Amino acid sequence: MDRTDQDGVRCRRCRRVRSGDELDRILWCEECVAAERGRAAWWGRGLALAGAGLLALWIALGIRPGDRFLFLWAIVVVVAYVLGGRLARELVFGAVRVRNRPGARALEASGGSGE
Ligand SMILES: [Zn+2]
Repeated sequence: MDRTDQDGVRCRRCRRVRSGDELDRILWCEECVAAERGRAAWWGRGLALAGAGLLALWIALGIRPGDRFLFLWAIVVVVAYVLGGRLARELVFGAVRVRNRPGARALEASGGSGE
């Protein structure tokens, strides 16, 4: 099993000792989960914004919608941004969880390299 210190378990992300019920099933503490959720949300928004921008560019240059349909294409771009953002966020969060470099946040805290 995982390393245990006295009566706690080390978070596999930041390596701080926590009581067992503070960790989730892959042994991350709540702070690490919240931090990675936040970072994944940031990435999700960025990726979705880039994707929506490309989509808008493609619609503007490739499809050249008339004025009457501009509104509909705008909705398409917004929906793509919202759904793409959610999808990207979950994918980024999932990827970070699966890779789970042990002590990744501990390294970051001591000035190691980030992503
Ligand atoms: Zn942690």
